[in-house]
Amino acid sequence: MNRPKILILGAGYGGLSTAVNLQKKLNASDADIVLINKNDYHYESTWLHEAAAGTLSPEDVRYDIKNVINSDKIQFVQAAVTGIDVAARKVSTDKGEHTYDYLVIGLGFEGETFGIEGLDKYALSIANVGAARQIREHIEYQFAMWSQDEVKDDSRLTIVVGGAGFTGIEFLGELGNRIPELCKEFDVPQEKVRVVCVEAAPMVLPGFDPELVEYAVRHLESKGIEFSIGTPVVQATPEGVKIKTGEEEFDFIKAGTVVWAAGVRGNRLIESSGIENMRARVKVEKDMRAPGFPDVFIVGDCALMINEEVNRPYPPTAQIAMQQAETIADNLVALINGEDTHEFHPKLKGSVCSLGEHDAIGDVMGRKITGTKASIMKKIIDNRALYMIGGAPLVMKKGKFNLL
Ligand code: FAD
Repeated sequence: MNRPKILILGAGYGGLSTAVNLQKKLNASDADIVLINKNDYHYESTWLHEAAAGTLSPEDVRYDIKNVINSDKIQFVQAAVTGIDVAARKVSTDKGEHTYDYLVIGLGFEGETFGIEGLDKYALSIANVGAARQIREHIEYQFAMWSQDEVKDDSRLTIVVGGAGFTGIEFLGELGNRIPELCKEFDVPQEKVRVVCVEAAPMVLPGFDPELVEYAVRHLESKGIEFSIGTPVVQATPEGVKIKTGEEEFDFIKAGTVVWAAGVRGNRLIESSGIENMRARVKVEKDMRAPGFPDVFIVGDCALMINEEVNRPYPPTAQIAMQQAETIADNLVALINGEDTHEFHPKLKGSVCSLGEHDAIGDVMGRKITGTKASIMKKIIDNRALYMIGGAPLVMKKGKFNLL
């Protein structure tokens, strides 16, 4: 094969990190590298809850892709992928077709509604910059309307957040800070506002240390947030959500805003690609290739990998996506040089869940941290992700420095 063509789909944490790692490892003459992404910007998915709550502007969570890639080595194409056919080695987009010698699929996550009636139609989800902006504007609209209405419907001011996992809790943390600001801005008495977190499972933040979970719940409750745990949402309607509270018992929460943050799946395009998958996630080989397709790598939330220590899949995280990208870039270089690929082994450093701008909980390198210390750690992690992709100039431009 002379001058192989590497096609990378998606410029999220996985796809963009793959591209940036490749541009460090390859010369322009080694390969033709094409990166395709729907937008001309990358967004920090891990900051989207802030844009959705309105505590960070949508502009602050994104940056131009062209500012971090070397155009001598990588051709960037702004296009929406519409189909992947691995048997024919072809990818179609709304701007034309692409062939490849090696393909990297990093098209990210989509919300999973588990077939619950009405959720697709009536709930909002923190899926991308546009969706985050829509949530922020929807909540502001409800507050503005309540203020303006002659006959006031207080349910306009109720926000239901479905899911007490990482995304749900981080979003609630931001709402805890944002609601007092909104009340001031729209002349709304704060006691009229209800924020309810509804969770099907019997616990908050599964997988987190119980002491840290207790800290998070206490902190959020002190901001007025209510928890309804072990009460699955069974239906969403234009008026709110129906939840199951007992064997044959149900309750209805009237709400002007419903945000669904209770599950993710891989990108639907995987399902028609010809690659075996489970809810659009591909159980990858140890070197991150798709089973049966040695020229296709899967990165990030579209990849499924089992943690053999606990016999459960690794959670879909930016931390893992960026580490996978390094392995994939190394393995692509190895294949081009006719060498063997190597296995991916995640180096889990722990996780920090923010509870608003100045509070958080974390389990980092086996140490439990809370409060300001955890919040500073979260910002260091956020800045490190920027550094890994765009170096110091990107950290200076987009980094979080409001530490206290
Ligand atoms: P993404 O980062 O989602 O990137 C996918 C890219 O593909 C995007 O650029 C998208 O525009 C593009 N794309 C999608 N469809 C198409 C198409 N058809 N055509 C062209 N381009 C397309 N993880 C952590 O490690 N720590 C955290 O603290 C954390 N917090 C989170 C908070 C929130 C609110 C959310 C939503 C997620 C959080 N995560 C966190 C998870 C993390 O964001 C994901 O695991 C990570 O984004 C996955 O990276 P990815 O590259 O697979 O996908």
